Amino acid sequence: AVDGNLSVVHQDNVQFDSELPEFGTQGGVHIHADSLTVTSPVLMWVKALDLILGKMKNAGFDFSRVKALSGSGQQHGSVYWRKGTNQVLRDLQPGKTLHELLKGGFAVSDSPVWMDSSTTEQCQYLETAVGGAQRVADITGSRAYERFTGNQIAKIYKAQPEKYEDTERISLVSSFAASLFLGSYAAIDYSDGSGMNLMDIFSKQWADSCLEATAPHLEERLGAPVHSSAVLGLLSPYHVTRYGFPEDCKVVAFTGDNPGSLAGMRLQEGDIAVSLGTSDTVFLWIKEPRPTVEGHIFCNPVDRSSYMALICYKNGSLTRERIRNKCAGGSWEVFSSVLRTTPTGNNGNIGIYFDAMEITPSAVGVHRFDKENTKVAGFSAQGEIRALVEGQFLAKRVHAEKLGYKIMLATGGASSNKDILQVLSDVFYAPVYTIDVANSACLGCGYRALQGDLINGIDWLSLPHYHKDEMVFPSPKSNVCTVAGLGSNHICCFKYTSCS
Ligand code: ADP
Repeated sequence: AVDGNLSVVHQDNVQFDSELPEFGTQGGVHIHADSLTVTSPVLMWVKALDLILGKMKNAGFDFSRVKALSGSGQQHGSVYWRKGTNQVLRDLQPGKTLHELLKGGFAVSDSPVWMDSSTTEQCQYLETAVGGAQRVADITGSRAYERFTGNQIAKIYKAQPEKYEDTERISLVSSFAASLFLGSYAAIDYSDGSGMNLMDIFSKQWADSCLEATAPHLEERLGAPVHSSAVLGLLSPYHVTRYGFPEDCKVVAFTGDNPGSLAGMRLQEGDIAVSLGTSDTVFLWIKEPRPTVEGHIFCNPVDRSSYMALICYKNGSLTRERIRNKCAGGSWEVFSSVLRTTPTGNNGNIGIYFDAMEITPSAVGVHRFDKENTKVAGFSAQGEIRALVEGQFLAKRVHAEKLGYKIMLATGGASSNKDILQVLSDVFYAPVYTIDVANSACLGCGYRALQGDLINGIDWLSLPHYHKDEMVFPSPKSNVCTVAGLGSNHICCFKYTSCS
């Protein structure tokens, strides 16, 4: 909860695995035997909402002061409401929990989530039907991806047609959560709707060619999308009676977690955020989108005329941890001191470390080259550490340069490591600000609730900019530029060139 000055006044959370053990999840999900199918029990999410609202009530949170609410949900995941459930949502009785009331409300009890990668067949079908990967990207902002909702819907339609038939409405995780507050099916917002391979990101309507390639009568099951700060309506009387929210509390469209983070980090046009978490993510606020088969373009969650670009790298902190364990005795301190004492540019040695199949580009393996561009089997421990970190940031620069950026912000677990940020600053030849915004997706939705509540919305640009906690400048000795690129089907060497 944030107040009118955007200060956080309350936060709470529920851990799925430990607080709802009856659902038997690990990390909030079930990984199925094929290791590709990953789902979450939808009733676990419903029960978690009962639980967190109960916790807030017990903590004395004053619901009567809430003017508007919004939220975010993991992108791409989907929820399948059974026929007749909209009426159940309209008639929620405040004496019962949502979990009790909605027990029979879902045609599919295990919702596919963002980690699912079991829909390769559906992706191939979509790209063929629509006219190729680039064509799908030109329309929807991304080529066909396994986790994207349209391909998940296509799989359910094919594998469980009776469940698809029994589905009245399909929600994203975000619009599902909004529905629980609204007391009727909530619209999908443009920003989260961009992660489905179904929406035309320019017209902001469902794309007929994609709908047709996915499942029949899909448009009526999706409802019309709305802009991300749209007021969907007033809160359900259920919450007014049960928790004491005011009757005129507004529900602002919910969005995805990545768009929520962009709002929470208060990004503005031209800013690039580099999140160094389990996987690494780069996202930017852009004006002129140019979709490619690498990365994603989403509609911007705070400014209707803008977009956000997002590139995800699977080999992030886990790969850094592996090299730390191999070359620095498991110590970040030793890892950092190597970065401090080795030269920028690594004497021309360069490495690409894709332990797991990378997303951008789709490639796997470790590849090392010396200053003559000759492939080599290994580096010294010190050379390996610098090659890894420089290589990871060079890849990000190659992609980000295509999109353009002005100011760089770093967040995520590894952004606490100043020596890693120094390499980031040197490789991009740009200052790097660190920002420590815990729960940025959640926080962004507090901001968006305020934006939606005020009649003309808040002027986003008048907000104080992100917290400039600390800044790292390029080292004076850093005169490195890059010549090279990563294609979608091949890896190019990076070449270092001294330049004045
Ligand atoms: P998530 O993406 O799961 O939210 P975090 O953003 O919390 O993850 O980042 C967790 C990662 O941060 C860990 O995997 C760890 O490798 C990395 N990390 C934590 N401290 C450091 C450090 N001092 N230097 C480099 N990496 C670090």
